[in-house]
Amino acid sequence: MENVEVFDSPGKGRGLRAAKDLWAGDVVFSEPSFAAVVFDNMAEHVCHSCFRRQQKLQRCGQCRFAQYCDRTCQRAGWNEHKQECGAIKTFGKVPNENVRLAARILWRIEKEGEVVSDTQLTTLEDLEDHVADMPADDLKDLKVDIHNFLDYWPHNSKQHKVDYISHIFGVINCNGFMVSDQRGLQAVGVGLFPNLCLVNHNCWPNCTVILNHGNQSAVNTMFHSQRRIELRALGKIAPGEEVTVAYVDFLNVSSERQRLLKQQYFFDCTCQHCTEHIKDDIMMGGKEVDGNKPSKELVKEITEFSLQTLQKIDKARIDAQYHEVVKLCRACLEKQEPVLADTHLYKLRILSTLSETLSYLQFFEEAAGHARKMVEGYMKLYQPNNAQLGMATMRAGVTHWHAGLIEVGHSMICKAYAILLITHGATHPITKDLEAMRMQTEMELRMFQQNEYVYYSMREAALKNQPMTMMAEPVEENIKGLFRKK
Ligand SMILES: [Zn+2]
Ligand SMILES: [Zn+2]
Ligand SMILES: [Zn+2]
Repeated sequence: MENVEVFDSPGKGRGLRAAKDLWAGDVVFSEPSFAAVVFDNMAEHVCHSCFRRQQKLQRCGQCRFAQYCDRTCQRAGWNEHKQECGAIKTFGKVPNENVRLAARILWRIEKEGEVVSDTQLTTLEDLEDHVADMPADDLKDLKVDIHNFLDYWPHNSKQHKVDYISHIFGVINCNGFMVSDQRGLQAVGVGLFPNLCLVNHNCWPNCTVILNHGNQSAVNTMFHSQRRIELRALGKIAPGEEVTVAYVDFLNVSSERQRLLKQQYFFDCTCQHCTEHIKDDIMMGGKEVDGNKPSKELVKEITEFSLQTLQKIDKARIDAQYHEVVKLCRACLEKQEPVLADTHLYKLRILSTLSETLSYLQFFEEAAGHARKMVEGYMKLYQPNNAQLGMATMRAGVTHWHAGLIEVGHSMICKAYAILLITHGATHPITKDLEAMRMQTEMELRMFQQNEYVYYSMREAALKNQPMTMMAEPVEENIKGLFRKK
């Protein structure tokens, strides 16, 4: 832990500050999970040891619950599954993810104590649990979890006071970090990373956190190595400066961000962007044409219409009515276009949904135009090295590439690559994918510049031979909130 030290952050309790100069892309620290579990609804789809999504998994013959890629993963995961395996058998059913995680944490403490490495900067005991701040409904859920935990927890494991168990559940509730699959595209589980819990929030942070599964061989040799987070600097940080991450996506107006933060993490954000309402106006504003702006009433009317349409779109999406989604988006965009600013959040949401859905339906050309507008809006709102901006730019680049718009496609893929080098690092699977795409599009671009005709006929042949499989089915939300949302 040479890069950071614990300090008392004014008004925020404990925090971490830089102990030396840090630069964009530096790994401030990297940390394995103290404990982690797969989500209840993902238990059949990911390996319980390495958290990779797999088509075929092998079940643990004892509990019939845990599943693994192969014997190697099973062996690597045995240490943390052993007691769980016995407890599930005795309990006769599988408790929910909260209970499973609390139990894994307590088994680890029983074996190794509260501090498991010399780089761990806090005990679990000292972490905030905010149980006293919980609303009545959440407290009710907490009581049910504790009740189930007590039934599940074996008699021959170390017994704990209810207060302490409740503290662990509280810590999980406000500090549980979402663990994504190997490509970082989907949240598949939740884990606890003690040092990360010490990093405070800022809506305009100087760091980002990313999960890196490492490479397959590392998984086989090192216990727990598969679930590491990296805290990465987004720009220069001077010694003594607090390191921060954003717990919620910046693409919300300040009052909404503050509401989300209060609701889930129990604090009032007093960051500069919130107190000065920076960019709120352009996130909800009207479009300026030659110095003229539409009336406030009209902006309000179209904003409300957009919100209603977005709800209809969500419903159509859940029902997989993708052509209906496209129809709704196009109609909404037509109304938004003359009135709302290009940075209006609801316009960006429509553009995002429309481009993703059109890509999925393989209408790449129309998708590309919308994706480009979306990225241009994002660039005016996000800080330059934001991971969401990088991912959106990557998707837009791929869409352009698929549409045969190789020049813009290549340039976007290069931009995305530059961002992801900082936010994800060169060894992350997504960055590696991007690097391959960057080289491929560079080659195609050269071919295009030499002979357009040859380029297009080659493309056509390639398209006929292999269906495009790059675009996944449109999903509701990518991982935007850092920590787990209830
Ligand atoms: Zn595995
Ligand atoms: Zn088992
Ligand atoms: Zn804020």
